[in-house]
Amino acid sequence: MESCGIAIGFSDVIRLGHGSGGKLTEQLVEKVFLPKIGNSILNELDDAASLKIGDANIAFSTDSYVVKPLFFPGGNIGSLAVHGTVNDLSMRLARPLYLSVSFIIEEGFRIGELSRIVESLSQAAKESQVDVAAADTKVVNRGAGDGVYINTTGIGIIETRHPPAVRKARPGDLIIISSDLGRHGIAILCAREGLELETDLLSDSASLSALALRLARLGPALHCMRDLTRGGLSSALNEIAHASKVGIEINDSQVPIHPAVRGACELLGLDPLYVACEGRFICIVEADRADEVVENLKLDPLGQESAIIGRVTEEHPGRVVSRTAIGGRRIVDKLSGDQLPRIC
Ligand code: MG
Repeated sequence: MESCGIAIGFSDVIRLGHGSGGKLTEQLVEKVFLPKIGNSILNELDDAASLKIGDANIAFSTDSYVVKPLFFPGGNIGSLAVHGTVNDLSMRLARPLYLSVSFIIEEGFRIGELSRIVESLSQAAKESQVDVAAADTKVVNRGAGDGVYINTTGIGIIETRHPPAVRKARPGDLIIISSDLGRHGIAILCAREGLELETDLLSDSASLSALALRLARLGPALHCMRDLTRGGLSSALNEIAHASKVGIEINDSQVPIHPAVRGACELLGLDPLYVACEGRFICIVEADRADEVVENLKLDPLGQESAIIGRVTEEHPGRVVSRTAIGGRRIVDKLSGDQLPRIC
């Protein structure tokens, strides 16, 4: 992207940050992938494609999981591989129906651990009301992988004539977060680094299908939805500001953050706005429906900390600005490095 100010050349190599969901990922997508495989569907860069097949409106999405460690407080790569793809489908207000699952396993990986992962995957699929309709296994040489990687692809039926999309935000809209920010990223980081927090913090990894479908009744008043995965709230908001050509303003003090997440971020020098979730989303709605949305989300255990955190503006199109608790303003740019690699 122009705004990144860095060219990609053929002599450059992939860095971990290219998988972070921030500026480097954006560069790969814009410079390497879209020029060759882009089309009117893929170029939309929504969480799931919206496909008209016969009379049906189908949502279609794929994602690969390389999380490290494979097991973390609140889940493992198996449950995560279901939640991540189900949630991308849910962000188009689709009812998820079927998944494909591919395992890429390293020689020497314990079958007992693989069984635990498959058990979690199965459980998450049941809870998300999806069936695994296709699957594949590949094995790579010892040292050529990191235990196991999983790819899942999902399809679902879009349940509205007005699916939310990343380019639909309009000035005057309000921005709502479904619950508190950053538990997944901090839980992974603590598990990876062997850090102990005062409270037992679990990943927020969860299926957002039922919570998201609560918003179907908003019809065309629901403009955007984005789950907050890699790159956290900052990436989601920047992608919407860019695609919708609008400005976004959030109030730092209104963003719900668990005290343990805030404490860990302070300790580790992380900005919570950049920390990944796997069971949270933002939605952008017409202003007069925002209170109703928050009340509705709060009825669900996954939406208990739901809050209005900001608004869409005509000013500074393409930029996200945050008002700090002491009245200052700062630009919330996309992640520029690899703050938390291999978070999902
Ligand atoms: Mg997503």
